Amino acid sequence: MTTKGQPQRQYLKDYTAPAFQIDSVQLYFNLHETATRVKSKIQFKKSAQQPLVLNGENLKLISIAINDKKLDSSVYTLTDETLTIAQTPDQFELQIEVEINPEANKSCEGLYLSQGIFCTQCEAESFRKITYFMDRPDVMTKYTVEIEADEKKYPVLMSNGDCIDKKSLGGGRHYTKWIDPFKKPAYLFALVAGDLGVVQDHFVTKSGKKVDLFVYASHGKQDRCHFAMESLKKSMKWDEERFGLEYDLNQYMIVSIDDFNMGAMENKGLNVFNSRLVLADEKTATDNDFHSIESVVGHEYFHNWTGNRVTCRNWFELSLKEGLTVFRDQEFSADMNSAAVQRITDVDRLRARQFSEDAGPNSHPVRPESCLAVDNFYTATIYEKGAEVIRMMQTIVGRDGFRKGMDEYFKRHDGQAVTIEDFAAAISEPNGQDFTQFKRWYSQPGTPIVTVQENFSNDGTYTVTLTQSNADLDNQKKNQPFYIPLKFGLITNEGQEIEKGLWILKDPTQTWTFKNLKAKPTLSLNREFSAPIKLKWSMPHSEMLNLIKFDTDAFNKREACQKMLLDECLRLITALDAGQNVTVKTEIIEALGHLLKDNSLDPEFKSLILSLPMDLVLAQEVAVLNPVSLAQSKKMIVKEFVNKYKTDLIAAYQAHHAKNTRGDRALKNLVLGLLCSAQTTEGHDLAEKQYFSAANMTDSIYALIAIGHFDSSAQQKANADFYNKWKSDSVVFNKWLNVQASSQHEKTFERVQHSMTVQGFDSNTPNNIYNLHGVFGNNFLRFHTVEHNTYQWYCQELLRVDAVNPQVAARMAQAFNFTQKLPANLKQAAQTEISKLLNNPQLSKNARELLEKCL
Ligand SMILES: [Zn+2]
Repeated sequence: MTTKGQPQRQYLKDYTAPAFQIDSVQLYFNLHETATRVKSKIQFKKSAQQPLVLNGENLKLISIAINDKKLDSSVYTLTDETLTIAQTPDQFELQIEVEINPEANKSCEGLYLSQGIFCTQCEAESFRKITYFMDRPDVMTKYTVEIEADEKKYPVLMSNGDCIDKKSLGGGRHYTKWIDPFKKPAYLFALVAGDLGVVQDHFVTKSGKKVDLFVYASHGKQDRCHFAMESLKKSMKWDEERFGLEYDLNQYMIVSIDDFNMGAMENKGLNVFNSRLVLADEKTATDNDFHSIESVVGHEYFHNWTGNRVTCRNWFELSLKEGLTVFRDQEFSADMNSAAVQRITDVDRLRARQFSEDAGPNSHPVRPESCLAVDNFYTATIYEKGAEVIRMMQTIVGRDGFRKGMDEYFKRHDGQAVTIEDFAAAISEPNGQDFTQFKRWYSQPGTPIVTVQENFSNDGTYTVTLTQSNADLDNQKKNQPFYIPLKFGLITNEGQEIEKGLWILKDPTQTWTFKNLKAKPTLSLNREFSAPIKLKWSMPHSEMLNLIKFDTDAFNKREACQKMLLDECLRLITALDAGQNVTVKTEIIEALGHLLKDNSLDPEFKSLILSLPMDLVLAQEVAVLNPVSLAQSKKMIVKEFVNKYKTDLIAAYQAHHAKNTRGDRALKNLVLGLLCSAQTTEGHDLAEKQYFSAANMTDSIYALIAIGHFDSSAQQKANADFYNKWKSDSVVFNKWLNVQASSQHEKTFERVQHSMTVQGFDSNTPNNIYNLHGVFGNNFLRFHTVEHNTYQWYCQELLRVDAVNPQVAARMAQAFNFTQKLPANLKQAAQTEISKLLNNPQLSKNARELLEKCL
């Protein structure tokens, strides 16, 4: 045994093909809580004269043999991370037996126990915590899995593929055997064993094959699995219709697990889901939860082709499967719901999470060049920006052209582990496109900035000059011009659309000219957010109003309003930071009032157009991030709006409360939040009434959030009521934690600390940490303060979590992404605590890689 040295940085450029192929693998699991035995038989074929190096961590090696001949310990070398056999035949069977302790494993990686259920999570590199293996995505092979376990405690035993045998072994033990006929990498392996309830259904594919569908959850929770089942059937149908892709096995299983680091995992035929993304009914799930479930069930299902049948050559290519599959789930959601609302919420998410990532210390390209911890690749850049890059491809080659490219991709690469280059070639070549410049979106980091200059001359000539540049960050200085597809429209002052189309900006500066116009038109640029860029543009207020009123592109209609509000917030923040007296511009408030009263707008869209810019978006635009000014600027706008339009707001609340569709609830709850944020007694009373008469979780949770703006006995009563009602429900209890941690109330930090002591809170459960610590770390106003040693507390917690679950700790570390922008006193306080963490040799490479960049 040797000990671990300093974590090693890995590089994309160092990729080499595997020296061995694996023809097939047989696994035998003898499940016991504290001592599970895993026997493997692996058929190897050598393709280069090199030693065999297998990955393995936290394993107790029991025996090792080649072709039934036990190996002497002198012929192999064991370290904490590898098993190396110097000399091997060209073709052989390796037989290994190891012992692992699932109960002691709190990292939620490898094989572990969650509430008495054995389950696995192997992506990215955790199959090596189950047995010794070539744990890399480009080693694909066929798996046979046998499972033996206690018959009473674990009546359901599952793995990937199809179940071909099931029997009792006597002595209270039983057994199942599974064969997955499709080659897959180790990260897609899965095993689940437990006493589970199930909802069963089936789907007939377009070629007439019947597929049995199962959604498993703890007993008593089956009734909350029906929506996930419906979502699965919709996904299967959609993928056949849109991409011609059919499901390939005879059964498909989804299992809901309480302790899970990620959202869900696409293991072949056996998806494991975080319970919050499966369990839902009106009483326990909000409208947004239902939407997320539909989208994530779709996402994991779509991976069956984009990820499983064709996978990534190595983890630097992660966006090959994730960017593409996020794009597919976004398209699915747009087809199932309002396409405009879907696009707006997808872009909001991109801007909040990815743009801020790209503007901070963790900025990286969609295909990164290096990393310390592969787990840190699961970023908004790889997922969300990756999806935008795919969307741009579709915009460039057209929807039919994109389908043609996808068909070509599967024709060329089914059953292979490939690269982003391979994907780009499959899309571009059948469409006669050259993606050489376009592919810079994969290799260059940063959000491009496009500056807009317009000119209108008396002879009716209108010109638009667009100039692209990069943010002033070190990693973006060498960027070459991007290939930027921009959808646009020209609108007259009377609201008539006189031009629309697509511009490709590929040079540093380009100009477009229109002749014989009667007056300067209003430009609607980057419609549908066709490119993930930032526009720098001093658009006159009158033109913003013109777009808000007349733009036929719903995305840009709302965008104009967001830009108006963003500009106003920034003006207020600048004045507040300088200690000046400042008031909100009347025309802004009037524009909001106009929208509020416009009954032609869809209510859900209206709730989006009336929402204020998110903190994470504002934070990117300010030079110094003063959380107090940030919060104050928004509060001023809300107060003015509510003062001037209180009667209309209350009337809107009442009208939509009575109608009670999903869209009505979205608008009503936005209005309720505004009325409460402005501290009106009407708001308080409506929130109280809504909370205590709520018939669904959407109304219940938004009323609880809204009343949280007050320090009243009704607030305390509602908060205690919600807690008592849901403290034993793992999924809903997290919502209560989220409400405590996200509040702008001055007692928030106190409440966060108190929440850790209540019954129901488990300091090792990822969902509890995400909803309490994670949410608090994003609460700018209450987290970034020197008054209560919040940083010190947070970093101690981070270290505690890191010792058992480095992935969760790494996510906590992201709270410090904006450290460089904080005012001097906050920055110093944060960096003092970060330095303490970095000086601790026990800190994992996951958290270290992120925190190092915050100094
Ligand atoms: Zn995915």
